Amino acid sequence: MKNFVVAIDGPAGSGKSSISKRIAKDRGFTHIDTGAMYRAITLEALRRKINLANEDEYTFLKNTSVIYKEGITYLNSEDVSKQIRTRNVTNNVSTTAKLKVVRDKMVDFQRESAKEGLILMDGRDIGTVVLPNADLKIFLTADPEIRAIRRCKENALAGIESDYEKILAEIKERDYKDSNREISPLKQADDAILVDTTSMSIEEVCNKIISLIDARL
Ligand code: C5P
Repeated sequence: MKNFVVAIDGPAGSGKSSISKRIAKDRGFTHIDTGAMYRAITLEALRRKINLANEDEYTFLKNTSVIYKEGITYLNSEDVSKQIRTRNVTNNVSTTAKLKVVRDKMVDFQRESAKEGLILMDGRDIGTVVLPNADLKIFLTADPEIRAIRRCKENALAGIESDYEKILAEIKERDYKDSNREISPLKQADDAILVDTTSMSIEEVCNKIISLIDARL
């Protein structure tokens, strides 16, 4: 089967996951949400009550598997799709994700899953580090205020109350940590196409990316 890979990177709340899901469904791509994988490792680290910042305490990694398949995140075969979206995981994931032991293991899983078929992988370092030879690279972004408003709306739909100012501050903090870490920081690949979604609807963003995919396929 033809291998065609799309890498979508961008900051927290830029819409990577929801847009990737829609495009994958429309165009028969397999979507891999790499953020979900880092969240699963963070959940396990929190459950084990280790010091999240200490790389030496991640010994559990050698017996841990994380798989993202058809929208579900499995941690050692347990479906943790809901648990990885809690605020506790969200606010700690950048600490876990900056560690080399964690990234090495996740990147291996991610490269392995992109070997065959039509793949759409989203994250922070997909175009720069994980799949530097991707057929198409997109860097999705939006103003932090818009991203915070979108998060509040998503929460409202899920029946979760949210505080806009707090969410905005958390988004900015996560952007800062993800963009300033030593290993694989969030940044636009030189050959990525920038899509600023600040004043675009989900439909407009999807149509734009689909037209870019069609032009290259
Ligand atoms: O995409 P999402 O917001 O779910 O990602 C959660 C966190 O996982 C990010 O804030 C970042 O710290 C980490 N991450 C990463 N590299 C990726 C994907 C996510 O470091 N490729």
